[in-house]
Amino acid sequence: MNNNNVYVHNGSKSWFTLLSLQKEREMINLLRHSGSKSTTIFKDTLLSSSLIRQSFSSASSGGGGADNDHSYSATLNLPKTSFSMKANAQQREPTLLKDAYQLYKWQETNNVEGGKTWVFHDGPPYANGDLHLGHALNKILKDITNRYKMLRGHRVNYIPGWDCHGLPIESKAFESIRREKSDRMTPVEIRKTAKAYAEKEIRKQMASFRSWGIMGDWEAPYITMAPDYEVAQLETFYDMYKRGYVYRGIKPVHWSPSSRTALADAELEYNDNHVSQSIFVKFAVTQSSNAHILAAMSRGDKVHAVIWTTTPWTIPANQAICVNAQLEYSLVKHDKIDNHLLIVSSERLASLRSAFGLDLEVVATFTGAQLEGTQTVHPQYNRPSPVLLGDHVVAGSGSGLVHTAPGHGMEDFAICAQHNIAVLSPVDDEGRFTKEVGDKFVGMEVLGGGNTAVIEDLSQLGCLLHQEKYTHKYPYDWRTKKPILIRTTRQWFVDLTDVHQSAIQAINAVNMVPPSGSNRLSSMVGRRSDWCISRQRFWGVPIPVFYEKETGEALINDETIQHILEVFRKHGGADSWFERDVADLLPEKYRSESHKYVKGSDTMDVWFDSGTSWRGVLVQRGIISKEDGVADIYLEGSDQHRGWFQSSLLTSVCARGIAPYRNVVTHGFLLDEKGMKMSKSLGNTMAPNLIVSGGPNKTENPAYGVDMLRMWVASSDYSRDISIGPNILIKLLENIKKIRNTVKFMLGSNFDFNPELNQIDYNQLSDLDKFALHKVFLLEQNASKYYDQFQYSKAMQELNIFVNEISSFYFDVIKQRLYVESKDNILRRSSQTVLFHMLDVVNKILAPVTVHTSEDIYNHQFKYRSPKESVFTQGWCKFEEQWYNPELFEKWNHIITLRNEVNRLLQIVRDKGVIGRPDEATITIMVTNDQVPLYTHLTSLQSQLEDIFCVSGVIVEPYNAPPQLEGEAAMTSDVLITNPHGGQTLYQLNGGIDKVARFQITCQKSTQHKCPRCWRHQSEKEATLCQHCVKRLEEIKL
Ligand SMILES: [Zn+2]
Repeated sequence: MNNNNVYVHNGSKSWFTLLSLQKEREMINLLRHSGSKSTTIFKDTLLSSSLIRQSFSSASSGGGGADNDHSYSATLNLPKTSFSMKANAQQREPTLLKDAYQLYKWQETNNVEGGKTWVFHDGPPYANGDLHLGHALNKILKDITNRYKMLRGHRVNYIPGWDCHGLPIESKAFESIRREKSDRMTPVEIRKTAKAYAEKEIRKQMASFRSWGIMGDWEAPYITMAPDYEVAQLETFYDMYKRGYVYRGIKPVHWSPSSRTALADAELEYNDNHVSQSIFVKFAVTQSSNAHILAAMSRGDKVHAVIWTTTPWTIPANQAICVNAQLEYSLVKHDKIDNHLLIVSSERLASLRSAFGLDLEVVATFTGAQLEGTQTVHPQYNRPSPVLLGDHVVAGSGSGLVHTAPGHGMEDFAICAQHNIAVLSPVDDEGRFTKEVGDKFVGMEVLGGGNTAVIEDLSQLGCLLHQEKYTHKYPYDWRTKKPILIRTTRQWFVDLTDVHQSAIQAINAVNMVPPSGSNRLSSMVGRRSDWCISRQRFWGVPIPVFYEKETGEALINDETIQHILEVFRKHGGADSWFERDVADLLPEKYRSESHKYVKGSDTMDVWFDSGTSWRGVLVQRGIISKEDGVADIYLEGSDQHRGWFQSSLLTSVCARGIAPYRNVVTHGFLLDEKGMKMSKSLGNTMAPNLIVSGGPNKTENPAYGVDMLRMWVASSDYSRDISIGPNILIKLLENIKKIRNTVKFMLGSNFDFNPELNQIDYNQLSDLDKFALHKVFLLEQNASKYYDQFQYSKAMQELNIFVNEISSFYFDVIKQRLYVESKDNILRRSSQTVLFHMLDVVNKILAPVTVHTSEDIYNHQFKYRSPKESVFTQGWCKFEEQWYNPELFEKWNHIITLRNEVNRLLQIVRDKGVIGRPDEATITIMVTNDQVPLYTHLTSLQSQLEDIFCVSGVIVEPYNAPPQLEGEAAMTSDVLITNPHGGQTLYQLNGGIDKVARFQITCQKSTQHKCPRCWRHQSEKEATLCQHCVKRLEEIKL
């Protein structure tokens, strides 16, 4: 039995065998004041229905016969409920979950009053591979949001999506076919295989999402490879083209030789420890108008411009050298070669001296501006390489003169364009040198042998001044994890020149959670260069353009697009581009000339696919208007600042000038318990199913169930990276158990409560119950506030605090009245009324998270009317403004402080062996009544004080001249033991409440006898009922 530890913990194993009701209750009372840890355990015990049932059976069978208290057990209202302490998730959850799709459809037709809608636009996961905990985190956060909104009466729109195109799936498709065959595959075959693969993955992933209770339109998800989606995407592309945002141009792009395609910024990841070969190369000056250089040259000296680069393979493509007009440069002597002068930045001189191991005596200095017009010669190809002025040149590293290869650098390209210098980009799709570099390098990999060969060549030519390894940050292909290069090719771009500003303005109107996301996204968008949207792959949406064979000119206009869209609509979407020939794809008007055209072979960047989903899904399906409709929320991992959040923003700003979302919520990534980022390569990932269904060894990996997985998500502060591991789960389970205990107490205590018959009006509730309702009101307010702000961990925290506070005071106090009073006693019904409301609030706060448990609670709570519906069809909890009562709150907080001190005193007295249980004691409380009318308040509660303090007698007296206690530390004094007039020993404690009231508590052993029914020491004779119980029994008999 699970509760064995109670007895062991308490150090008295003998109790284990004594399961009579009385003994159990005695134990409970003992534990009640033996410290907080035991108090928690005591609740476990009390609420264990099996224990109580056993107690009952042993009582009713009269077993043992020696206990004369048994006859009264049947007159008590002990808690009864079939709500189990253990979730038993694996068996029970499947029986409890209301189908998430049915529920979604239900709210679509029923949550229509008030016109509140909630459009949650799903960021499509990639249709590739098994789901990991990151997926669970993402989808569950979304579902918590949606279920909360649904409970608050919103009509939720949530269409789950999948991102289907792109290289990883294309590669998987290749993998699935034998190599020799895949080489011969046509684009149409590749696309068919990729599509089948993606479809299979979607089915697998969907099954998992649904098993986690994610509510959504599972029968009509959006997939980016669906024809209607592709059509909408082309429409967006063409809208942007017509508005002048899309152009075709030669530009440097990030190129991945390992994927053989151009990459967008979002597809790069940076390796901080990339090691390059850095080289210093000298370029001989042939002409200059600089007086110092001219003078040296006329003396017969040879002058060289020294450049530095970390990409030696780009030297063959060098077309210029850049200097900064403002910087100071020095003409220095080469120590070891006669009549040899070098031009370097003055600022870099010291470090170059040490790098080169030369003195480099300065001959003259001048500004960069004075180098304008200087000509050098390319060391390998004997062509001019002019010196240009550029603001991008800084003196931070290298030589202060920048090697400029417009074919392989963004800034290089820009400055050469200004000077009409030709672009040379002698590298092919696979990253190999083309024949433009001459026979000695052609075919070599530029990131491998080609690089080494260039260095060797420069060395042989005597132009290599110095070479060293250089560790720096370098972009890699995020999929292949291999370095990329910059290459100038002909591509399609989105021109962002005029978009930056309006995009940043649009971001300012969005509520970002956490708020730091706003700056992050703005600065990323602000820095972004034109968006290259063409890819050289087959598995994607084609760029719908024809090229004239002769001129290479692109053909795209209203007629061609309308025709292509028509073909796509009729013939299965983008596949038709690959299946049909040019004549079919061209409109009537051009058909007779179709032989003059070829169709484009580029596909679109997958970020363009998903970035147009606001249009392809929300506009297409009539959920938002095309002109100015926005989704209420996008919620994804923080990496989407550079991905989907950004691509969606850019397409929407280009097409309509606004962001496509109202709220953008980001979450962090997963860490293991040691704080290490989870990754496949580290082997520290955790499958969601391990938490839900457990591992083969159930002791090591118990089956925690879906609600636990969801509770982990809800309890995590997702604004940062989140940890998970066995210890975190064990701690979480403790919290869940506490909540279940609390719920079980409420359900058990209300076993005979039917709100329609037994509810008490607010005005007739006892003050204590009103106080509890005030706490419930605050709980609802705070939890709602946090739910509204998407701060679920704070909502859960509020709930945990509430559960702890309410069970350690309110539940403790009302037990006596719930159990010993007659069924319809007004105090009892008053507390039951509050418990009923309280449970409704607690359950609704839990419901968006623990979808199964909350159905279970709901079924138990409303068992009197045999509920057939779901907790989610009941709307948010009912609460009333009148529950808010701050005055009462303060009063009762003073009593709680006083009660804590009483408990402390009782514990001391018990430790001394004077009493066994608190209700063997009576107490006298002297309190002041000046700044806080504590005395007045206590006397007004006189009839309930024994319950409040859980003792057999309470006397309250005014405290008119309390001793002065000084400072915080002296707020409560040590216990004094007095023995006045040689009578009974008194135990006394002095204290204060927040310096506003003082009290003195005196405790003594009760002189009365224990009542065999209620166990208060209030009977005049041994083994007889107390006066209260005599009356109660009369009521019960009536
Ligand atoms: Zn009694």
